Amino acid sequence: MGFALADAAQRAGAKVTLIAGPIQQSAPANVERIDVISAADMFTAVMQHTAFADIFISVAAVADYRVRKPRTEKIKKTGQTLSLQLAPNPDILSAVAALDNKPFCVGFAAETNLIETYALEKMQRKKLDMIAANHVGTPDSGFTCDNNQLVVLTRDGKREVLADAPKTRIATQLIDLIVKHFPQ
Ligand code: C5P
Repeated sequence: MGFALADAAQRAGAKVTLIAGPIQQSAPANVERIDVISAADMFTAVMQHTAFADIFISVAAVADYRVRKPRTEKIKKTGQTLSLQLAPNPDILSAVAALDNKPFCVGFAAETNLIETYALEKMQRKKLDMIAANHVGTPDSGFTCDNNQLVVLTRDGKREVLADAPKTRIATQLIDLIVKHFPQ
């Protein structure tokens, strides 16, 4: 979805920086791609680049936690239960939305139930301008399939439904909505 959005945005005339986690996919043409591995690296790259951005679309499914003390050597099995301590990752989108000179912030909410309720709460808590909510958790929706459908909510109370379609088409429609709601 992120790559489709990067392509749709550059087609609409934007200068696009795509900050991508580990993914085997070529970047669209005319897009500057920055590859990162960890959530911490993504945080640093995003904070360096959003200072110059008008719009920030946060579509990556960032891990909420990381292993607190990663081992450099293989952990040998003992036959016992193994516990790993996890530390929370920074919330990149909330950090961008808290900037004094913040860009127009668009978040995603991937939910298995009560999609709009959770999305609305997330938009308010993270202080976003817009949130795109989608259903995940079934084989024909979410991360692994080519189609998507979104309910888009805006801070000023608007609601739009982008009906089931290929992610490329949904991306174009979402960019059109962002353009429509971007303050002139
Ligand atoms: O809180 P939750 O993960 O459900 O929120 C999803 C939104 O927050 C997405 O837009 C995602 O890109 C962003 N996010 C983030 N940093 C995190 C976790 C999520 O920017 N550590």
